Amino acid sequence: NYFIREQMQIDQEGYSSKVIVLKNITSFKELDVAKTNFIATISHELKTPLAASDLGLKLLEDERVGLLSGEQRDLIAQLKADNLRMLSILSELLNMAQVEAGKIQLDISAAAPESIMDNAIRLAQAAAKEKNLTITRDYANGLQAVNADADKTVWVLNNFLTNAIKYSPEGAGISVSISQSGDRIQFAVSDAGPGIEPIYQSKIFDRFFKVPGSRAGGTGLGLAISKEFIEAQGGNIWVQSQPGTGSRFGFDLPTYRNFNT
Ligand code: ADP
Repeated sequence: NYFIREQMQIDQEGYSSKVIVLKNITSFKELDVAKTNFIATISHELKTPLAASDLGLKLLEDERVGLLSGEQRDLIAQLKADNLRMLSILSELLNMAQVEAGKIQLDISAAAPESIMDNAIRLAQAAAKEKNLTITRDYANGLQAVNADADKTVWVLNNFLTNAIKYSPEGAGISVSISQSGDRIQFAVSDAGPGIEPIYQSKIFDRFFKVPGSRAGGTGLGLAISKEFIEAQGGNIWVQSQPGTGSRFGFDLPTYRNFNT
């Protein structure tokens, strides 16, 4: 494993020469694999106690252990939301580790685009309700099935929705759409949030990138993983956004018929 860098040099007399630097990076690559495995193991290990704590909170919430005061109920709701947030960070780390290890395993089949979107909305509904956001659906009629890994596609749409919710002002609307053009199905999520400056629009799909000054927390991994997931399935991912007006994130995937006949 070598990292190669070529550099042209021109000396004082005007003669040019080329310097080639070879650096053995085997140990760095090994370290990288070790790091990726470490992240995958830790994320996996942390999921178990988190799931257990979630179960405990559910018992408390259902008053199986004793009756709750309003204050206690609020506190439990907050702890549950924190747990959910931690679980979502862990799922990002696990997915990133998979992507880094070149191990995206796709489980492709014919799937109804409407049910993929509906599942993603269902997962995001509680967070939307907390900010009084209404999600409206605009699905074209007669959509064909997509050739997709349904779970990974739901994950991507849920990531779009979670971002849309995070960046929307209280009480705003979010709209989702599915359309078909030829043998491609387009999925999109639009919000009325702050939007993204043109110079950052291509960068937000990079790992760990967050728009400078953006106040919302986050890992900067969600969109990078989304891009990997969509491209691995033969799709294209994009964003259209006007600062001050909102953002629209989307991707397309091939129809099942197109892919399999
Ligand atoms: P994060 O975990 O930080 O949300 P993402 O990869 O999902 O990571 O997003 C990268 C960055 O893109 C975010 O930090 C934010 O600056 C910007 N971004 C993503 N979605 C939106 C949106 N709907 N509106 C405005 N900015 C967004």
